[in-house]
Amino acid sequence: CGIVGYIGQQDCKEILLRGLEKLEYRGYDSAGIAVLNGEGTYVFKEKGRIAELREGVDASVSASIGIGHTRWATHGAPSKENAHPHQSASKRFTLVHNGVIENYLQVKREYLQNVELKSETDTEVIVQTIEQFVNKGLSVEEAFRQTLSLLKGSYAIALLDENNRDVIYVAKNKSPLLVGLGGDFNVVASDAMAMLQVTNQFVELMDKEIVIVTRDQVTIKNLNGDVIERAPYTAELDA
Ligand code: GLU
Repeated sequence: CGIVGYIGQQDCKEILLRGLEKLEYRGYDSAGIAVLNGEGTYVFKEKGRIAELREGVDASVSASIGIGHTRWATHGAPSKENAHPHQSASKRFTLVHNGVIENYLQVKREYLQNVELKSETDTEVIVQTIEQFVNKGLSVEEAFRQTLSLLKGSYAIALLDENNRDVIYVAKNKSPLLVGLGGDFNVVASDAMAMLQVTNQFVELMDKEIVIVTRDQVTIKNLNGDVIERAPYTAELDA
């Protein structure tokens, strides 16, 4: 299973799909991407191979921000409904996740009594809870942070906000995730291999950090909101 993301100037569908292909070796049962442009968020997902996902992606949709996922089902059978990305009730927020949220039923009981879930995954609880907190008046970053602080378990997460095409929110805990630097674009990946096609400059992330990724900036924070400085490294691998 794995995660990719891109924010930049170029159409990113192919970058995301190629990145997911590079992560195929990790194993998966379904795959999906979400891309965001001025018209909205477009989600494409399929049970089965990336080749099948690729066939279902509308070539006429062009977008320079997006996220992708290969799923290894832990909660909910492999199916199109349970495949990632998952969206909040209003569809404003779109999220991919690798890992296992051990206390998702508890979070669901406490925060999502009035929300009808569309999948059987632990993951959907994350994106729905973020939206509940935003509905209560928190900023997206605050809502993301608050939600993460409720979660027990492992996660690598990338989050899109339809109301803000200038950022991908990222976080990790006990699941791998890196940020790749491109100059006028930035990427996210579970494994540097997935993004060697576009950069060899990566920034390592530590558990319980959240990252605000824009086209030209990467800001790492801890769960208290303190900014953390970290130098990139060069990945010495062949694409
Ligand atoms: N627990 C999540 C699910 O079952 C994510 C699994 C994964 O790491 O791909 O959908």
